[in-house]
Amino acid sequence: MSNLTTPLKQLVKEGVEACIYCGSGELSPRGFKQENTTREVWEDVECKACGREWKEVYTLSDIENVDATPIKETLPGEAPEPRFTNYYRHCGQEWNDQWSSMCNDRCPECNHEIEPYKSEDIPEGS
Ligand SMILES: [Zn+2]
Ligand SMILES: [Zn+2]
Repeated sequence: MSNLTTPLKQLVKEGVEACIYCGSGELSPRGFKQENTTREVWEDVECKACGREWKEVYTLSDIENVDATPIKETLPGEAPEPRFTNYYRHCGQEWNDQWSSMCNDRCPECNHEIEPYKSEDIPEGS
């Protein structure tokens, strides 16, 4: 039963083009399958000549950028560069903060959401 015509390691490198048991080229692949919960992809293949079946397991080996857009290699969760200095005023307090947009901040006294009364661009490259 385990008399393979080609060593398995060589098949993994070169791809399976003939039955691993009898060497026949009459294969009937059943299409790729993937479990939603894992990243494992496999294809069940049946040999039409001898009727044996096996499972070819695929893993991600490379990523190719087919789009011309360069891939921006930012780390996930990295904050965008601040582009504005926003100024806030509430409860007799004044403070400012740097954000990527003109967004609201919380008053440190009463925790209300405060709109900036003033917003300044941060010149690029500073
Ligand atoms: Zn076969
Ligand atoms: Zn307040």
